Amino acid sequence: MVKETTYYDILGVKPSCTLDELKKSYRKLALKYHPDKNPSEGDRFKQISQAYEVLSNPEKRKIYDQGGEQAIKEGGVGGPNGMSSPMDIFDMFFGGGSRRRDNKSANVVHQLAVSLEELYKGAVRKLAVQKNVICDKCEGRGGKKGALEKCSKCNGSGMQTHVQQLGPGMVQRIQSVCSSCSGQGEYINPKDRCKNCHGKKVVREKKIIEVHIDKGMEDGHKITFTGEGDQEPGLEPGDIVIVLDEKEHDVFKRSGSDLIMRMELTLTESLCGFQKAIKTLDDRILVVTCIPGEVVKDQAVKCILNEGMPQYKNPFEKGRLIVQFIVNFPETIDPRLVPQIEAVLPPRPEYIIPDDADEVSLMDISPEQSSSRLRYREVYDDDDDRYAGGHRGVQCQTH
Ligand SMILES: [Zn+2]
Ligand SMILES: [Zn+2]
Repeated sequence: MVKETTYYDILGVKPSCTLDELKKSYRKLALKYHPDKNPSEGDRFKQISQAYEVLSNPEKRKIYDQGGEQAIKEGGVGGPNGMSSPMDIFDMFFGGGSRRRDNKSANVVHQLAVSLEELYKGAVRKLAVQKNVICDKCEGRGGKKGALEKCSKCNGSGMQTHVQQLGPGMVQRIQSVCSSCSGQGEYINPKDRCKNCHGKKVVREKKIIEVHIDKGMEDGHKITFTGEGDQEPGLEPGDIVIVLDEKEHDVFKRSGSDLIMRMELTLTESLCGFQKAIKTLDDRILVVTCIPGEVVKDQAVKCILNEGMPQYKNPFEKGRLIVQFIVNFPETIDPRLVPQIEAVLPPRPEYIIPDDADEVSLMDISPEQSSSRLRYREVYDDDDDRYAGGHRGVQCQTH
């Protein structure tokens, strides 16, 4: 039991979640609420990043589980001040992406939802992205040639210094961003400003990029378009980073290079054999046969070699297709037919019932009753093996 679930709720995961589930959820939410995409949700982005920072660290997660947010704040592992900045966490997660380095513009990170079929067969997807490009009307100057002046208020530094007298002979210097040029250090007379970019030097442009999804790529795979990101005058352009987001599939669940599916059988099929078809991700039909005489038990797991996911960069090598069998038992059978069924099934063992045994009846377990398991156990935890066995059987069926 965890003390509080706030951080888990923020990330939309259960307290029992694995690190992978945590990462996947963080990735989705961080991209969705990134200030670039959702400027009004800055607080949400901050919360998501802080919750992820704590829960992705096993030590911090333990402290949080035991003592909640309060313990994190007191534990010296970073309260609101000790926390990394949300952008840093985002950069760490996406591989040093969106922060502007000294000579490079910010990267543009996009999430692309892809189907399991596309990851199996490979695909090319076109994606429209918005990015800043240098205005070609003013060639990134923001105005007419020569219209750019040094800001007179800050003398081009972008910073203002105020001197405050604290007492005789004591002064304090306070630096702040220049109010006149907002830290740009330059000034363009409004009448000389470029009409195309309104003096911003860059314009928003829509660009179509072709994303090549290779066979076997995984959820979270990053495809980088170097130099295709935002442009800024005087800086190297950033990159566009596409992060693949694998959509859930109705039939197959992926586990590394294996695919997992469930196959439901009737009791007759499980006992008497069957032939069933599986449609693969590239639309082939596989037929699986269980010959009469072979029994497939409920919960049995079998696999088909080389019918899983192709390996990335080695697509002729494929993983396994793992089939989990579910046997659906009939609700009831006609009591008149029981002797016939019994005649062909293995004989039932014989029990000797003591004379002083108490007759009890088996009930279905309703949800309200399941919480009072103790009482239930008292009734059935008998020394008699038959009842202990029956008790386990009943319990299994309810799971
Ligand atoms: Zn311009
Ligand atoms: Zn200035």
